[in-house]
Amino acid sequence: MFRAFFIFLSKAYWAQKLIMNWKFAWRVASRFIAGINIVDVIKVVKNLNDQGLNVTVDHLGENALTVEDTLAATKEVIDLLEAINSHDVHANVSIKLTQFGLNIDKELCKNNLQNIFEQAKNMENFIRIDMEDSSITQETLDLVYWFKTTYPGIGTVIQSYLYRSEKDVMNLTNECIPIRMVKGAYKEPALVAFPKKKDVDDNFDLLTKICLDKISYCDYPEISENGRFPPIIAIASHDESRIENAIHYANTKELSKRTYEIQMLYGIRRDLQKKYSEQGYPVRVYVPYGTHWYPYFMRRLAERPANVWFFFSNLFRK
Ligand SMILES: Cc1cc2nc3c(=O)[nH]c(=O)nc-3n(C[C@H](O)[C@H](O)[C@H](O)COP(=O)(O)OP(=O)(O)OC[C@H]3O[C@@H](n4cnc5c(N)ncnc54)[C@H](O)[C@@H]3O)c2cc1C
Repeated sequence: MFRAFFIFLSKAYWAQKLIMNWKFAWRVASRFIAGINIVDVIKVVKNLNDQGLNVTVDHLGENALTVEDTLAATKEVIDLLEAINSHDVHANVSIKLTQFGLNIDKELCKNNLQNIFEQAKNMENFIRIDMEDSSITQETLDLVYWFKTTYPGIGTVIQSYLYRSEKDVMNLTNECIPIRMVKGAYKEPALVAFPKKKDVDDNFDLLTKICLDKISYCDYPEISENGRFPPIIAIASHDESRIENAIHYANTKELSKRTYEIQMLYGIRRDLQKKYSEQGYPVRVYVPYGTHWYPYFMRRLAERPANVWFFFSNLFRK
């Protein structure tokens, strides 16, 4: 109920206008968001790298409404890849396809992606295609398979709340396409997704095991020295039990720590990020930046009632 309400708000234009106009909202949101431009985000990336953490950078934005917006978003990612390269930081890039026109025109989206992948190839970097709601899961995966044939530095995301995910994991790992395993951040009907948290958690463990099993089939690819190219599986969760179960299973298979990575969101469970990094596991922090922070921020509030309390307590602070 609580989660559904905040996910509803994340899509409500009136709420976006209202909340983005409150100055204090940014103060709270900035706990999860690295700033508004490339200069801001590179500063944060350098700082995380200094702590031994790798990064994936996300220029915030989704559901673009105009062709011009998709072109501007494409240019931003091209500039971002250039900045990552020139600053020589340990970071790759995550993108959402609706920011590049998937909901407007598939060909437009493909052309925008083509330009991004050409730049990624020139800059020797990796692009992760984030997963959005289930109405575009298949289209997203189709584009991943299509680009994989010309550009190997591509990966995507699997959401353990979807019933279809086991089949998708099998297909993606057969092609050795890197997967980020997440629980899923959108409101989905019981027709397509497990309604109970326990089932989502159990499926997360199961799908992670399948990915860990496939590491040998893919010839044990390790994270690259510069932290840009990830291994086959990223365990992306702040849920310690999910991470511990994955590590336990990887140990039974005697997998090296560099054949999988742990991912967490910027500003969440920094203690865990530090702990696993100090234990020698590659940890990657997902760092978003940009002016379109509203839906991302609402999804983070939806995940944890304590965040809403934090939000409102800041409202009354000077
Ligand atoms: C690197 C990364 C990339 C992601 N990419 C995608 C994507 O492409 N598509 C998608 O649908 N979802 C994505 N997600 C979000 C994911 O689906 C979950 O919604 C989110 O990670 C919360 O689930 P959890 O696994 O952390 O477990 P939960 O059971 O939700 O949380 C476990 C514990 O983590 C802490 N925690 C979790 N969320 C928060 C929060 N917002 N604030 C403070 N503490 C928190 C709390 O201590 C909580 O008890 C991504 C998550 C990560 C970490």
